[in-house]
Amino acid sequence: MAERPQVVIIGAGFGGLAAAKRLEAEPVDVVLIDQRNYHTFLPLLYQVATAGLNAADVAYATRGLFRRQQRVFFRRGRVMGVDWDQRCVQIDDEPPVAFDYLIVAAGASANFFGVPGAAEYSYPLYTLPDALRLRNHIIDMFEEADADASIVEEGALTFVVVGGGPTGVEVAGALAELIDKVFREDFHDLDVHRSRIVLVEQAPHLLGPFDRRSRDYAHKVLAARGVEVRLGTVVEAIEADRVRFSDGGSIATRTLVWAAGVKAGELASTLGVTQGRGGRIAVGSDLSIPGHPTAFAVGDIADMDDGKGGRHPQLAQVAMQGGRHAAEQVLATMGKRPREPFSYFDKGTMATIGRRAAVAELPGGAKLTGALAWLAWLVLHLLYLMGVRNKVSVFVNWAWNYFTWDRGPRLILRAEDGRRGHEPAGPGRSVDGDR
Ligand SMILES: Cc1cc2nc3c(=O)[nH]c(=O)nc-3n(C[C@H](O)[C@H](O)[C@H](O)COP(=O)(O)OP(=O)(O)OC[C@H]3O[C@@H](n4cnc5c(N)ncnc54)[C@H](O)[C@@H]3O)c2cc1C
Repeated sequence: MAERPQVVIIGAGFGGLAAAKRLEAEPVDVVLIDQRNYHTFLPLLYQVATAGLNAADVAYATRGLFRRQQRVFFRRGRVMGVDWDQRCVQIDDEPPVAFDYLIVAAGASANFFGVPGAAEYSYPLYTLPDALRLRNHIIDMFEEADADASIVEEGALTFVVVGGGPTGVEVAGALAELIDKVFREDFHDLDVHRSRIVLVEQAPHLLGPFDRRSRDYAHKVLAARGVEVRLGTVVEAIEADRVRFSDGGSIATRTLVWAAGVKAGELASTLGVTQGRGGRIAVGSDLSIPGHPTAFAVGDIADMDDGKGGRHPQLAQVAMQGGRHAAEQVLATMGKRPREPFSYFDKGTMATIGRRAAVAELPGGAKLTGALAWLAWLVLHLLYLMGVRNKVSVFVNWAWNYFTWDRGPRLILRAEDGRRGHEPAGPGRSVDGDR
């Protein structure tokens, strides 16, 4: 092993960045690899999709995060696999990168659960290009309906959100505000009241991980804001202009937002390691990958036992704490100290429904709903957002939106190649070719 061991980290998301930050001042060389040159703050993606924030507000150039760290190297590239014998990471069209220690933090992607048409016709929300594609499409639908109101009958202004977890609830709530408070005035020739937002969930309640009071509150607020909530409803198939349910019903729509679940990032299945639920990489209690003691997996891509018979949830805090833990195990191994098991400190969970409405479940059992939970949500998201410029910009946007009901970034932005916005969101068809 070299004098300064090389730690390769795959993924500059919450887990990968936490690991790199923990190692940046240690006697190691860190190579951080990501397919994109920026970190994405996924919890605010839905606000980009619903014209509340600019794309640059929720992303941060990864190189900028380490520009003063001479021993942290960023490499933009898509990792295709790992050669365990040669101990190197294989990158698409680029030379491999050797490692002494490896931390896999490549996140998750949308899980379509084999629903026919979901990959071709739905709009997932997992990347910045996803959010921009959805925003373009929503505004396109209003522009087209404004030009020809007859297409409203065909579902042009019907927005179906599949998945009643935090992401689905947030998207539905934000869409309701965008349409009711902004588009109603923007499109004064159009009968915007004919638009529909339908939130579909197969469970008998929204917000699965939350307690009953929070679930009921979210349901009540969404209904009051005009969202049709359909519980116990299973999507059977998605077509270009219709969604079909297993009870035989269907809804004409050209916009189906897929927020129904995630699975491990594609990389997991190329590594030749044991995979658990949702294709996630099985890890030991110290987060190392069985059979590869100097390799770790953290965050959404890792199947982490919570010690209570379940798995740790796919949340930013789990990824950040996991990333830090893996980095500490690298240092422990270098210092010939024993490794420690990962122990997750739950700082609570939150979901926002819209203006002055959120639910928050805090450590110690405290549960908040309403304006207080919403304020807590705002403050926490500002705190965790990367970069002072982004914090200031998001704060200014939020304040502006709050006092004026305006949404500045309601722009249709795409490469001017003549294509329209409602191309399906299937693999490889992102607006900026970023996949
Ligand atoms: C819309 C949405 C809203 C969310 N809201 C919340 C919330 O409110 N609170 C919360 O706690 N959690 C939330 N989450 C979950 C949270 O964002 C994730 O748990 C967290 O991002 C996981 O961190 P990670 O480091 O494992 O993966 P990510 O943050 O997803 O980062 C993975 C990185 O790996 C890169 N990558 C993937 N494959 C490759 C490859 N082959 N080669 C190179 N690079 C690769 C990606 O480009 C990405 O930068 C939300 C998720 C989504 C999608």
